[in-house]
Amino acid sequence: MRKLELHWQILLGMLAGVLFALAMVQLEWGPQFISDWVKPFGNIFINSLKLIAVPLILASLIKGVSDLKDISKLSQMGGRTIAIYIFTTVIAVSIGLGVVNIVKPGASISEETRSELVENYKGDADAIKSKADKQKEAGPLQALEDLVPSNIFKAASDNGNMLQVIFFAIFFGIGLILIPEEQASPVKKFFDGFNEVILKLIDLIMLAAPYGVFALLAALVVESPSLDLFKALAWYALCVVLGLTLMLGVYLLMVWVFTKTSPNTFMKGMSPAQLLAFSTSSSAATLPVTMERVEEHLGVDEEVTSFVLPIGATINMDGTSLYQAIAAVFIAQAFGMDLSLSAQLGIIVTATLASIGSAAVPGAGMVMLVIVLAQAGIPEAGLALIFAVDRPLDMCRTVINVSGDATVSMMVAKSVDKLHSPKVKNWDDNYKK
Ligand code: ASP
Repeated sequence: MRKLELHWQILLGMLAGVLFALAMVQLEWGPQFISDWVKPFGNIFINSLKLIAVPLILASLIKGVSDLKDISKLSQMGGRTIAIYIFTTVIAVSIGLGVVNIVKPGASISEETRSELVENYKGDADAIKSKADKQKEAGPLQALEDLVPSNIFKAASDNGNMLQVIFFAIFFGIGLILIPEEQASPVKKFFDGFNEVILKLIDLIMLAAPYGVFALLAALVVESPSLDLFKALAWYALCVVLGLTLMLGVYLLMVWVFTKTSPNTFMKGMSPAQLLAFSTSSSAATLPVTMERVEEHLGVDEEVTSFVLPIGATINMDGTSLYQAIAAVFIAQAFGMDLSLSAQLGIIVTATLASIGSAAVPGAGMVMLVIVLAQAGIPEAGLALIFAVDRPLDMCRTVINVSGDATVSMMVAKSVDKLHSPKVKNWDDNYKK
C-alpha cells in the first residue's frame, strides 16, 4: 500500500484529535483523561522540536556564515533579508487595516456582550498587561543591548533569547572566516556533521508528528471556552482569517513572480510546516521543520536558509502584525472610538515594531498588542474582549508567520542565485538514503 504523504498524515492526526476530544467531553471523566494521558504526549512532541531548534541554529548558521567566505556577501544578504522582512510586514498590517475598516466587526458587538467578555477575562487581561508593562519600561536602545548575550548558555536556555543565539552564531562564523583555512577546516567539518545529525533528528521527530498533533489538538479542544463566546466574536475572527488568507495570496504571488515557483509547489512543500505551525502556535518550535522543508522541497540553498529562516522566525511575523492591526481597530470600534487616519498610520508603525518584538511562542502577539493599544490610545481593557478567540487565531497567524519566512528566504535565495531545483521531492525519500 502506498504510504500517505506527510501533510495528509498530519491533517488526519489533527482531525482525529478534534473528533476524539469532542467524543471524550461527553464523558464526565473525558476531559481529565485527556489532560492526564493525552496532553503530555503533545508537550513531549513540542519539547522535542524546541530541543533541536537551538543546536540547529548554531550548527547551520555557523556553517552557513563560514561558507560565505567573505563578509561583504554576508552584509549584502543581511541587508536584503531585513529590508524584505520589513516590507512584507508593512503589507500585512495594511491588509489588516483595510479589512477591519471595511468589515467593521467591532460595530456589531453589543454593549452587553462587551461587558460580559470584559468581565469574564479581566484576570487574564491583567496578567497580559503586567507582562507587557515590563517590555514597555525598556529604553530606546534596549533591543540593541539585548542582542549581545553575556552568557551563551543562558541565551540558549529555555527562557533564552533566540536573537542572542543568532548573534553568537554569526559572530562565531565571522571568526571562522577570518582564521587560516587549515585551522578553520576541522571546525567547519565538525559543524557540518553536527548539522547532518540534527537534520536526521528532525526526520525522526516528524515520524511522530501525526500523533503529536493528535494530542495537541485533543488537549486544545477540551480546554477551549464555550461556543457562545466564539459566536460573539465571529466577525472579528473572520476578519483576521480573511486578512491572513489574503496575505497568503500575496506570498504565493510574490513567490510566483520573483522565483517562478508555482503556488502548488510552494504549498505542497510547506504544508507539513504550516500544519505544525497551526498545531503548535509557535514559529520557534516549527523552525527545524521549516528549515528542512524550504531547503529540501523548495530548493533554497542551505547558505540562505540557515541565515534567513532563524532570523525570520524571530523578527518576521506578518500574521502577528496583521492580527494586531485588526485587533486594535476592533477594540476601538467596540468601545465606540473613531480612529483618525494618523492614529491608523501610527498602528502601521507600532504593529510592525511590536511584531518584530514578539517572541515566537504561543500568545506572544497578544502581549505585544498592549503596546499597539497604548500607543493609539485604545483602552487596554479591550484585551479581555478578544481573549476567548485568541488561541485559534494564534494558530492561524503562526501559519502565516512561517509561510512569510519561507517566501522571503526564496526571494533572497533567488536574488543571490542560490535557488536550485529541490533535492527531495517526497518526504519518504529521506528514509531511502
Ligand atoms: N504564536 C506566534 C508565533 O510563534 C506569535 C504570536 O503570538 O503571534 O509565531
